[in-house]
Amino acid sequence: MFLGKIARRMEEKQEAELIFIPFPIPGHMLATIELAKRLINHKPRRIHTITILHWSLPFLPQSDTISFLKSLIQTESRIRLVTLPDVPNPPPMELFVKASESYILEFVKKMVPLVKKALSTLLSSRDESDSVRVAGLVLDFFCVPLIDVGNEFNLPSYIFLTCSASFLGMMKYLPERHRKIKPEFNRSSGEETIPVPGFVNSVPVKVLPPGLFMRESYEAWVEMAERFPEAKGILVNSFESLERNAFDYFDHRPDNYPPVYPIGPILCSNDRPNLDLSERDRILRWLDDQPESSVVFFCFGSLKSLAASQIKEIAQAIELVGFRFLWSIRTDPNEYPNPYEILPDGFMNRVMGLGLVCGWAPQVEILAHKAIGGFVSHCGWNSILESLRFGVPIATWPMYAEQQLNAFTIVKELGLALEMRLDYVWAHGEIVKADEIAGAVRSLMDGEDVRRRKLKEIAEAAKEAVMDGGSSFVAVKRFIDGL
Ligand code: UDP
Repeated sequence: MFLGKIARRMEEKQEAELIFIPFPIPGHMLATIELAKRLINHKPRRIHTITILHWSLPFLPQSDTISFLKSLIQTESRIRLVTLPDVPNPPPMELFVKASESYILEFVKKMVPLVKKALSTLLSSRDESDSVRVAGLVLDFFCVPLIDVGNEFNLPSYIFLTCSASFLGMMKYLPERHRKIKPEFNRSSGEETIPVPGFVNSVPVKVLPPGLFMRESYEAWVEMAERFPEAKGILVNSFESLERNAFDYFDHRPDNYPPVYPIGPILCSNDRPNLDLSERDRILRWLDDQPESSVVFFCFGSLKSLAASQIKEIAQAIELVGFRFLWSIRTDPNEYPNPYEILPDGFMNRVMGLGLVCGWAPQVEILAHKAIGGFVSHCGWNSILESLRFGVPIATWPMYAEQQLNAFTIVKELGLALEMRLDYVWAHGEIVKADEIAGAVRSLMDGEDVRRRKLKEIAEAAKEAVMDGGSSFVAVKRFIDGL
């Protein structure tokens, strides 16, 4: 009886608390919270509590991101939210406009004293008898300067990468290249390719993140990448059988790189914030009435709005192809409070019965719906994983961040998507014409059987990876045991 009590007590002692520091945009926060839920609910229970240190950027409405996070964790009493105070003297806004990665890195460096204070308060609130010990920090990759804070408190830092393993290959390669060759990349140097580890193909320079082509942001990318090896481990939101080459490469611990854990796909749950429930029902009810694989879904992520002239070209393409469609339109609310205003005159009447236009879409539920036959996507990594998980073919239309590299990965490396564009850059302002979009949609919806068969296998593999005993489940267990 007594020994049983001691054993129980020791087991309790083994429970850990983790401190997560995510990056405050929806794609990163959704995946981070979902990972937190997965760790908390892993059996046998080892993670007792997860504390999210929340912060925001000055131009993101703090109250929105907090309510967004609160609604994500409301059913999880063991996930706590601590909001950091505002950073005094943030970097000038012009830097963000010019070189966003550089702005973000500078901003995160300015957070160091605030995170120190928050950690010190958290740690001093416990004593020896506390059965839960803080086992480490889990940082978004933009937060790598905070590894210094972890070191000060003797806490290991892990990185949670909301991107692909192929992207990690690029992050491994960047500092090496920087040391050997001239800095920066030249986007205009035609078809130049580079040997990124983990890729079978040479990677065209023009599909690298647009930020690498400008000195300030290039330096920020290299600085972030240089800090990756200091992490105790890197959790990647992907799965082994999807990116086998990249994971094989990291399995060999090249240059003593930290262990890499393929733990995905972490799909964000359906009870999303930002979503008007009656709107969700309207969309799903409409999909219920459509034939199987008949609807093409257009959605371009959570961040950027398309130019009005681009929206018109998409509308025209929709009319040209005549397929059923579901289209999530994001417009700048200050410029166009009513997105329907931008659509060509009479468009809604002409496509009546053929499709739906909506704002924020319940994307996971949509991609899971049998009526969806194709997805024209901006190739954000979450969107790709969600689409693969449900075997929906993608036509690639990357826009910003690392989406061009993602498009290259799924089209050329993995043969899982249809190439519309690989190197389109939203910020360059090019307008893709209706004919080109229509051509891509036709190929997407007419679909090759080989691609569809391959997608079906990947969808099955994605499902199995996170199930009890699956490769990602085992990797999560390895990570937790390592704590
Ligand atoms: N999303 C959504 N509805 C929308 C737009 C986006 O649910 O109308 C979700 C999408 O399912 C994904 C995330 O927001 O989980 C976007 O992440 P991603 O990495 O694809 O792109 P980002 O927005 O970060 O560029």
